[in-house]
Amino acid sequence: MKKFLARHRRIKIWFFLSIIIVWLVYMAFQTPYTRINSYGSKSYPGKAFGTTIKKTIYMDDEAERDEVDKAIDDLLKSLDERLSYRNFESELAICNRSYAVDGIVELSPDILGYIEREMEICKETDGAFSPCILPVSKLWGIEDGASDIPSQNEIDKVLSYIDPSNIKLVDDGISFHSYDMELDFGAVGKGIAADEVMKMLDEKNVPGAIISIGGTIAVYGDKGRDDKWYVGIQDPRDKEGNVFGVLEVSGGNVVSTSGDYEKYFEADGKRYHHIFDPKTGYPADNGLISVTICSDDGFLSDAMSTACFVMGLDEGMKYAKKKGVDAIFVTSDKKVYVTKSVRKRFVLKADEYEIAKR
Ligand code: ADP
Ligand code: MG
Repeated sequence: MKKFLARHRRIKIWFFLSIIIVWLVYMAFQTPYTRINSYGSKSYPGKAFGTTIKKTIYMDDEAERDEVDKAIDDLLKSLDERLSYRNFESELAICNRSYAVDGIVELSPDILGYIEREMEICKETDGAFSPCILPVSKLWGIEDGASDIPSQNEIDKVLSYIDPSNIKLVDDGISFHSYDMELDFGAVGKGIAADEVMKMLDEKNVPGAIISIGGTIAVYGDKGRDDKWYVGIQDPRDKEGNVFGVLEVSGGNVVSTSGDYEKYFEADGKRYHHIFDPKTGYPADNGLISVTICSDDGFLSDAMSTACFVMGLDEGMKYAKKKGVDAIFVTSDKKVYVTKSVRKRFVLKADEYEIAKR
C-alpha cells in the first residue's frame, strides 16, 4: 500500500511537471520571434494619394486593431492634404503660386527637409530625378486623362524654366529664381507616408502590418510566427493585382514600384506614360517597363523607383548598388535584372519573364 502511494505521488509529480514543461515551451514559442500562432489579422480598405490603400493589421485585440486602422486612415488623409500640390491650402500649392522671384516662401521644417532630400537625389542622379517636373506633367496632363502629345515648342518652353538649379533652399524656406517653377511630391509622397505609418505603428506597439499605398508597400514588424513577409510585384503587362514575381522582405522595409503601366495613353503604337525624362520633357523611353526598390527608408525607396526608371538599366543599377538598396528592373522584352542582395529572395511567378544574367 505504501509502495502504491509513493508511486502514485511520483506519477502526480511527473504529471504536473510535464504540464509545466509543456506550458514553458509554449510560452517560449509565444515570443514575437517564435510564436506558434499568428496574431489575429484583418484587412481594411482605404483611399488616399489618389490611389487604393490596403492595410492588413496583425494584432490580437479586435477593437485595438480597428482603432489602429482608423489612426492610419487619419494619418494618410492628413499627409495627403499636406503633401499634395493639388490641395490649394498646402504649403506646396502656396509655394507654387507665389511668383515673387527671389522672394522667400517659408516652409515647415519637414516639408523643407523633403525638398532637400529631393534635391540631393536630383544631384546624385544627374537630374534624372527632378523635384520640379510638375510643369512637364501638367503639360502632358496624363494623370488627368489627356491623350495628346504636346508640340515640341510647348515642351521646349517648359524645359527652359524647370532647371533645379533655379531653386534655392534657405534656413526656413525656399526661393525660386525663375517664374513658373513648380514643385510636387508625386514621386515621394507615398514613400513619406509609408515611413510615417511605420513610425506610428511603432509608437502604438502594433506587432505587425502590411500597408500598400498604390505601388508603395510598407512591411512592418512580424505576424507572430517566425513567418517571412512576401510582397508580390505587379506584372507590368498584366491586369492589376497579377504579379510576375514575389520578393521576400523583412519587417521595417518599404517596397516601391514605378512603371509605364500605371497611367498612360497610346498613340501610333507607342506608350506615353507619367514618368518623365527631365532632359527631354518626354516620358522616359529607355527599354524599362518597371523598377522595384526595397529599402528600410521609404522616401528613398519611392524616389529611387522613379529615379532608376528614368536612368535606365545600366545607370539605374549602378545607382541602386551605390545606395545599397534591393532592386528589380524589368525590360520590355520581359527580362528581369536584380541586385545580388535580391537573388535568393526573389521568385518569378509568371512564365514569360526570365531572370537575366549580366
Ligand atoms: P506612382 O505615383 O504611379 O506610384 P512614381 O512613384 O514613380 O509612381 O511617381 C510618379 C510621379 O512622379 C509622377 O506622377 C510625377 O508626379 C513624378 N515624376 C515624374 N517624372 C519624374 C522625375 N523624372 N523626377 C521626379 N518626379 C517625377
Ligand atoms: Mg516613386
